[in-house]
Amino acid sequence: MSRLVVVSNRVTIPKKAGDAPAGGLAVALQAALEERGGIWMGWSGNSSGDREPEKLDIIERGNITYALTDLTDTDVEEYYHGFANRVLWPICHYRLDLAEYARKEMAGYFRVNRFFAHKLAPLLKEDDIIWVHDYHLIPLAAELRQMGIKNKIGFFLHIPWPPADVLFAMPVHEQIMRGLSQYDLVGFHTDFDLDNFGGGLVREGIGERLEGGKKFSTYGRTFKGGAYPISIETKAFAQYAVKAARNVMVKKAHDSIEGRDLIIGVDRLDYSKGITQRIDAFEQFVKLNPAYQNKVTYLQVTPKSRSEVPEYEQMQRTVAEQAGRVNGALGQVDWTPIRYVNRSIARPLLAGLYRLAKIGLVTPLRDGMNLVAKEYVAAQDPEDPGVLVLSRFAGAARELKGALLVNPYDIEGTAHAIARGLSMSLEERKQRWSEMMDHLLEYDINRWCDDFLKDLTAD
Ligand code: UDP
Repeated sequence: MSRLVVVSNRVTIPKKAGDAPAGGLAVALQAALEERGGIWMGWSGNSSGDREPEKLDIIERGNITYALTDLTDTDVEEYYHGFANRVLWPICHYRLDLAEYARKEMAGYFRVNRFFAHKLAPLLKEDDIIWVHDYHLIPLAAELRQMGIKNKIGFFLHIPWPPADVLFAMPVHEQIMRGLSQYDLVGFHTDFDLDNFGGGLVREGIGERLEGGKKFSTYGRTFKGGAYPISIETKAFAQYAVKAARNVMVKKAHDSIEGRDLIIGVDRLDYSKGITQRIDAFEQFVKLNPAYQNKVTYLQVTPKSRSEVPEYEQMQRTVAEQAGRVNGALGQVDWTPIRYVNRSIARPLLAGLYRLAKIGLVTPLRDGMNLVAKEYVAAQDPEDPGVLVLSRFAGAARELKGALLVNPYDIEGTAHAIARGLSMSLEERKQRWSEMMDHLLEYDINRWCDDFLKDLTAD
């Protein structure tokens, strides 16, 4: 079996061999790397100031070599905060109004990808399989190919891929598409994303779809594309949720809601997550259903993210103010309708909170997959499962057919779905839940990893 080389912007290193890292993706990649032996390369997260970093930091753990590089301050600003998070992220989430193009930052993005390629190439063996992750590193294969690297290289995009007209708003869209054409397999979360990608090539007149959209031909190359819905470590997560019932914090949370129905939302603070629309929907729900006053608590867990990007900093204030306003308007002396936690909670504890909640409220305006939706399902008590209220614009909606699907822009519609979920019969809840859970048990994170690697290594 060939060695596996994983490249991603950030790298998760377990403390010592055999330690399980947090998060399903890291667990699955570690397992695939352990099995095949291999390298995981990426940015250390540190800056080397204005000095070009020279040597990679090499850490050996069992069968896996972690190779980390620092980046200069300018690299971090232009490649990471700049082009990746201020252009690619908003564009891929259909927010071309928020994209801020700066030629210097675009150049920085391509420069850092070249730098990564130059650091990686000397570590490669002839039959290594290379798996590149996410939007930070789209041009990496093109840079490696320029250096004469002929290995199989796969790419997986962890965020959505937009339709042609949105993509074309990005000045360097053609270079980005050309970058993708240098891989042997390009994986997206859903068939919709795959379709958008193929549609973009055709619309721009630079390529064609072959084999019903599973292969593409462009820039003189033919390569495969596919939909690989990422998932979670379903069984393990369900076990965390059972264990978490004994967790002191979960017990405290349970006692503090005093028998009220719990609604939970868990999202990084990001404009793609639809948090303000969701708070509006909750407010509407209480107004339209006064019988629920003082009978329901909405817990919104929202760790800060990317505070260096102005929209995120602004959003931090907006959401906090909005939660405060709704609490002021609806609250009573013995009832705070919204509990807003602006900090991160460890996944095993989250599992316990999901299990307490009658409704998992997952209403992004656009999301590649949304793992919270899957975690919420996995954490439920089979005898008394809660209801997932899910945005039709999350990748997870392609799979989780037992959810109540909503359009997050339709505030009243979401409010109605909350009411419907809270009053749903046990029989219907069980039926909807088991359909979703059966799916997640079969299509877990290991299945995702295996399916991608199988297609990448097949001829
Ligand atoms: N998460 C966490 N603590 C928090 C909030 C989120 O560990 O306080 C985890 C959550 O359990 C999930 C991940 O962060 O595994 C979020 O993944 P998702 O696909 O939902 O969204 P992303 O943040 O990747 O856009």
